[in-house]
Amino acid sequence: MHDVVIVGAGPVGGAFALALADADLDVVALDSRAAGATLRGDRSLALSHGARLIFERLGVWTRLAAVAGAVTPIVEIDVSQAGGFGVTRLVAQEQGIPALGYVVSYRALQSAIDDALARTGIDVRFGATAASVVATPAYASIVLGEEKSTPLHARLAVVADGAGTTVAGIARERHDYLQVALIAKVGMDAPHHGIAFERFTSEGPMALLPEGDRYGLVWTMTPSKAEAALALSDADFLAALARSFGARVTGFAQVAERRTFPLRLEFARPTVATRSVVIGNAAQALHPIAGQGFNLGVRDAYELGRAIVCAPRDALGDDAMLAAFAARRRPDRYAGIAFTHGLTRLFATDSPLVSWPRGLALTLLDGLPPLKRAFTRALLFGIS
Ligand SMILES: Cc1cc2nc3c(=O)[nH]c(=O)nc-3n(C[C@H](O)[C@H](O)[C@H](O)COP(=O)(O)OP(=O)(O)OC[C@H]3O[C@@H](n4cnc5c(N)ncnc54)[C@H](O)[C@@H]3O)c2cc1C
Repeated sequence: MHDVVIVGAGPVGGAFALALADADLDVVALDSRAAGATLRGDRSLALSHGARLIFERLGVWTRLAAVAGAVTPIVEIDVSQAGGFGVTRLVAQEQGIPALGYVVSYRALQSAIDDALARTGIDVRFGATAASVVATPAYASIVLGEEKSTPLHARLAVVADGAGTTVAGIARERHDYLQVALIAKVGMDAPHHGIAFERFTSEGPMALLPEGDRYGLVWTMTPSKAEAALALSDADFLAALARSFGARVTGFAQVAERRTFPLRLEFARPTVATRSVVIGNAAQALHPIAGQGFNLGVRDAYELGRAIVCAPRDALGDDAMLAAFAARRRPDRYAGIAFTHGLTRLFATDSPLVSWPRGLALTLLDGLPPLKRAFTRALLFGIS
């Protein structure tokens, strides 16, 4: 029997495997990907400063930063709202850190993790898909998708498959925002200097994240508006974008790679079951408004690794260990979910009754350093 079987060696499952690299444990990681492939193409991930520190400890950051264009630091975030007053600027220097966060290429991060994993004793099996995880009090059985393959047995199954659908005994709550995120790459007629923009409109939030020498755009809207926006010519699309950002951002020059994806909140309740635990997007998939989802997943991975390394071997995967881990993660997790979901509600209306207080909130945030620091800390490191 193995000590730990990990279902999914994506960015979160891979980070978790690395957190166990120095422990004297028999660990197997399964991933349906072919070796060297990436699941998500070249999606960009918003990484917090706290997540960077974790990847540094796991030996991934240096590899990642060595890849040209793989990491773009965010040194300032300009937060504003359409049709109301109030603007705040979060500045890295004021927080005493080199960057508020980073925009990172999913592909480059995955390959840095794969590379780091290949240098450990962890048995990573590519092209291996788990069909289900079922458990007895003594062990978890991981049934593989291939016909006639023998199930793997482990003291603990850690599911980081991005969906959480393989594991028995863990239900998922789902809230559909009835909106989509339109994403695209946007070229400007001047350098971005690492400044990100987040703007709240009655339609939903929109963000420009510096990415290489362009911006990555995330623009939330209703599915029918998105369909119309996808059909616009580049020039008309850029004009619509400029109208929505108002005077906050000017100089939109090119747009490429426009596409959409549906927005929903999904989270596992509970995150642990007999001999099993879900982490990363398998535990919670959030609206991208605050860039919290992936960062929560990285903290899940790191904290679970620490809990396992600190536990006596015969306690590995037992109910008490899993309950303690779930309780420890709960404040950060629920705060991340509530914060993200709350922002979507707070900024999703044009009513003057709400737009005044929220403008005030943004202005106050700018004028009150301790509050601003607390807000920035929550965005950077999570709430724990
Ligand atoms: C459409 C979309 C767009 C997004 N855009 C952004 C963005 O712009 N910025 C941002 O920060 N975040 C974004 N996110 C969120 C971000 O992609 C996730 O937070 C992140 O990918 C979660 O990492 P993960 O390792 O938990 O899951 P995943 O990245 O989904 O990785 C799961 C891994 O498990 C493997 N796997 C899956 N099923 C099995 C199985 N049955 N057996 C074995 N292996 C399996 C897969 O091959 C994969 O390697 C987006 C999410 C979605 C859905």
